[in-house]
Amino acid sequence: MTDVIAKRTLETIPIVPASEEVALYEIRKKIYPRAVHGAFARWRWALIFATQIVYYGLPWLTWNGRQAVLFDLGARKFYIGGLVFWPQDVIYLAVLLILAAMALFLFTTIAGRLWCGYACPQTVYTEIFLWIERKIEGDRLARIRLDAAPLSREKIVKKAYKHGAWLVLALWTGYTFVGYFSPIRELGVRAITWQLGPWEAFWMFFYAFATWGNAGFMREQVCKYMCPYARFQSVMFDKDTLVITYDGKRGDPRGSRRKGSDPRAQGLGDCVDCNICVQVCPTGIDIRNGLQYECIGCAACIDGCDQVMDKMGYAKGLIRYTTENALAKGYDTKTTWRRVFRLRTIVYSAVLLAVGSAAAVSLATRNPLKVDILRDRGALAREASPGVIENVYRVQIMNTDETARRFSIRAEGFPGLEVVGVEQPIDLGPAQSRVLPVRLRAPAPDNVASLTKAEPHPIEFVVRAIDDDKVVRHEKSTFIVPRQ
Ligand code: SF4
Ligand code: SF4
Repeated sequence: MTDVIAKRTLETIPIVPASEEVALYEIRKKIYPRAVHGAFARWRWALIFATQIVYYGLPWLTWNGRQAVLFDLGARKFYIGGLVFWPQDVIYLAVLLILAAMALFLFTTIAGRLWCGYACPQTVYTEIFLWIERKIEGDRLARIRLDAAPLSREKIVKKAYKHGAWLVLALWTGYTFVGYFSPIRELGVRAITWQLGPWEAFWMFFYAFATWGNAGFMREQVCKYMCPYARFQSVMFDKDTLVITYDGKRGDPRGSRRKGSDPRAQGLGDCVDCNICVQVCPTGIDIRNGLQYECIGCAACIDGCDQVMDKMGYAKGLIRYTTENALAKGYDTKTTWRRVFRLRTIVYSAVLLAVGSAAAVSLATRNPLKVDILRDRGALAREASPGVIENVYRVQIMNTDETARRFSIRAEGFPGLEVVGVEQPIDLGPAQSRVLPVRLRAPAPDNVASLTKAEPHPIEFVVRAIDDDKVVRHEKSTFIVPRQ
């Protein structure tokens, strides 16, 4: 498939005479995508609604009296529903990234750039901004005329309305983004009274500016020149990947004709050369030139062409999701789909399922108690009183639960080992952590045969919840006997 892209891309490069000077960078021609309706447009809008309801709505949900989803960087705690993640839970972030990567591999292997076409924030916000643009300035032709027209009152008013609406949406998006890191209700009050912290203000306006710039102005250029995924996605394609393709065998030779006339009698294929597929394309390419890296897989050209096919009374699907093998070997739909679910996709699905299930089980059976033991470097070991050795530790106890708990702490390793200097039980509120200086005392070696002098002796701290025996941690450490 990579070869095919390269070959087709080469075929589309115009041949320029050696004497002609070519600019290194092409000046961007503004694209005015035409509105399109159809099955795939409905899917795209369904996903836009779903992703945006989640994005704008999630920070407003509450859980146990606090924001349900909050990434509290200052306190180094992430709250997601009833789960509280601490820096020690970074493994879950790694698992999440693995799951996201595997899902991307899987969906790209099945049907190409599904992420780009339906769920990527760049596509989603461009679509929303375009919708606003259409509502205010009109569809493709009206917008082309408006941009070409000299400055007038109508033009200024329309542009002002459009940018005003874009700005409100962009600012709300920036506010929502910061609301994932700083409680959103208090943030709103501070934003209205101009009492935002410097980082809050920076990120809110930066995110709003990025949304406004990327969705309002940069649009397809982000996909074409900035997004790395567009560059390497072709390595995940093969000849059985569903991609949006123009069926050249059926469509060519192209040409206009009267509705109801027989195209074959005129030596024509089914393509009426109306250019609708190009006009609806948000990246401005002509899918009839073959698969191109600029194609984000949005399927707007399928909807556009299907409308034309309907009007002409031809079968839909001149442009459709199909595979290179299906086109070359003439597979029927059943065979094509059977080959889509091939070994590669089964392996990706199995890994995705295995990692996802393991993460879910691990989360469900997660111990809400975390304990870190650090030896106090300033005071390793000393003789506290004649015949008694003392070691000092810093013990961090983290209660990741939503309920307050009481804990006990003791040490095991050899006879006579005891914890001193800590008031027990230790009270910890919900999602709270405490660092305690803990002293361990043991009888001197002369009194305990198993203690050899000047050696680190393995010991174990046992921290246990008073009200629940299952909430317990055993942390290994060492007890040092000083040289005499
Ligand atoms: S060619 Fe078709 S699928 Fe690709 S970006 Fe353009 S409209 Fe979307
Ligand atoms: S929309 Fe369909 S019929 Fe019209 S030019 Fe494109 S491929 Fe041909």
